[in-house]
Amino acid sequence: MGAAQRRAARRGVPIYCWHSLGPPPDGARDPFLYVSGAEFDRQLGLLNERGFRSVTLSESRSFVPGNAAVLTFDDGCRNVMRHGMKPLAKHGMTAIQFIVAGLIGGKNDWDVKHGETPEQLMDEAEIRDWLAAGHEIGSHTVTHRNLANRAEAEAREQIFSSKKMLEDTFQLPVRHFCYPHGRWTPRVAELVAEAGYETACTTKFGVSTPGDTPHRLPRIFPLSTSELAGKAAHRLARRLTSLRNVR
Ligand SMILES: [Zn+2]
Repeated sequence: MGAAQRRAARRGVPIYCWHSLGPPPDGARDPFLYVSGAEFDRQLGLLNERGFRSVTLSESRSFVPGNAAVLTFDDGCRNVMRHGMKPLAKHGMTAIQFIVAGLIGGKNDWDVKHGETPEQLMDEAEIRDWLAAGHEIGSHTVTHRNLANRAEAEAREQIFSSKKMLEDTFQLPVRHFCYPHGRWTPRVAELVAEAGYETACTTKFGVSTPGDTPHRLPRIFPLSTSELAGKAAHRLARRLTSLRNVR
């Protein structure tokens, strides 16, 4: 969280996005989707030190910018409970997890089929514990489909059914949506609005400002400087490996 991010926060609300917490498993294809529990604790400590407090996505739409932040997690991984609950409680912050409604208690099949290591997703009891601790859930579709390349009927089903499934199971309104793989089209965003979601998060980088369309909210991906450097090196190494394989 450098000076540039602090300046940007004055113009709007940063919506932070994490995926997994804890050590990356052996063979993880993208270890940078993992932030260690200690690093997460440090990141929340920095937010606290700078006077930020966590607000919900609903509040963020009407909140006076300056010291509000939204904390989001994509996919509903069990490791977020294991490594995140304590730091969140310690810093008095709440977060939202975007749940894949048809894979509760399952695994990240959508990544595993591309060679990613399996990650356990929260089951129903764990999601209830998450909610009981004052946190929120949102929808991340039924099966984590890329909605940008689906027929409209299927996109609609993923968007509408996931909301109903989560609301029926947990008996609460599900107001927020997150696009799997960060992929959406204007038509998909319209369907999300039609389903009754107040907001939808994208993977576009930036601070959310009052002028943003609520179903296209940008987010920020918190990595430490060393992780950023590591990520650049990792990407470069992967590119070099693929170039070598072509030859
Ligand atoms: Zn996802």
